[in-house]
Amino acid sequence: MKILIKNCNLVSMTEERKKYEENIDILINNETIEKVDKNIDIKDYDKLIDATGKVVMPGLINTHTHIPMSIFRDTLDGYGLQEWLNDRIWPMEDKLNEEDIYYASLLSCIEMIKTGTTCFNDQYFMTNAIISAATKVGIRAHCTRTLMDISGDIEERLEELEKLINKYLNSDMVTINVGIHSLYTCTKECVERAVDLAKKYNLYVHMHFAENSNEIEDIKKLHNTNNPINLLEKYFKDIHLVLAHCVKIKKEEMQSLKTLDINVAHCPISNLKLGCGIAKINDFIKNEINVSLGTDGQGSGNNLDMFEVMSYTALLQKGINEDATLLPAYEVLKMATINGAKALNKESKIGSIKEGKNADLIIVNLKSEKTEPVNDVFSNLVYNARGNNVETSIINGKIVMENRKTNIQNEEEIYNKCKTIISSLA
Ligand SMILES: [Zn+2]
Repeated sequence: MKILIKNCNLVSMTEERKKYEENIDILINNETIEKVDKNIDIKDYDKLIDATGKVVMPGLINTHTHIPMSIFRDTLDGYGLQEWLNDRIWPMEDKLNEEDIYYASLLSCIEMIKTGTTCFNDQYFMTNAIISAATKVGIRAHCTRTLMDISGDIEERLEELEKLINKYLNSDMVTINVGIHSLYTCTKECVERAVDLAKKYNLYVHMHFAENSNEIEDIKKLHNTNNPINLLEKYFKDIHLVLAHCVKIKKEEMQSLKTLDINVAHCPISNLKLGCGIAKINDFIKNEINVSLGTDGQGSGNNLDMFEVMSYTALLQKGINEDATLLPAYEVLKMATINGAKALNKESKIGSIKEGKNADLIIVNLKSEKTEPVNDVFSNLVYNARGNNVETSIINGKIVMENRKTNIQNEEEIYNKCKTIISSLA
């Protein structure tokens, strides 16, 4: 299948090209971006998309989420993190079955596609149901079987994860990683076994870390240490780590993180809603630590709209540092695209619009009351555009949404199904 996109305003997020170019054509051949140039003159395309006046940019990469948690939207108000998990979420999660997980994930996949996300990094359980939903919608999935052992059997969970790893070893669209829930829910043995698995298959580890102050205290107790940062050095020396949150890492501690292969998945909306604080992203960047963005699950993150996350990211850093020059919009766009690809070890395949890379891209229409006039395209995308400005999404060369219509015929039925699931759990 050959798709020719004509006349777009290109935000390619590559080092090689100009940051912004007008009247560019993109030729997609099967899953690959074959050519990016002015006036591509071919006749044997299967599909022509006229993108005149519209922005084409790489699909957004959500580097931390729990997509089956769509059904827990709006359950958090008035709770702190630990109370919300212990008293509300975990008892409901115990009752979930595979079908529930499938529909809850399907809702999230639709939400992601319709808000410009083309790849997500998830952490949950009943992973086969999550992957089925992602496959149905056509979104690129990074999944795991979350490991923790303060409750439940670690052997069974490790076995389940290893089976998944082997099943998807050669998959283009599904990548399995090693998900460690956190150091406050995993003992030394669990962490070591997980790291062994990551080394055996050369996978990255995805883990919550330093989300709030209680967590830090719980880690100290469980691992008998004064400093949880030391545990990162102890357990994860040669491991590529995707750490969600990192709110409670102090400026002076960042220096020691530089020796490790760490990526921070910044989830500002979830952190704010849970009253956790605001991660010092600007200092991570100063220390040359890669920062990408995430929504977290909808329970704490409200929704999966990465445009909203970009806007919060930029505003918060300017605010807490009392410096309006910090984090220019283009840097924030990098976090949501190419930095996300780096975080997930996929830089050579996705995260920018470049010949030879996989065709994961979105067409954004900025002709709307909230976005006109466009004086600076990067600022407009970060501060004013929202997911519903995304008109068309292409993932791995396939059109998964065109003019805001996905390939799912019965979205309404899925909404209703999710409503039924959550009322049966409460
Ligand atoms: Zn999370």
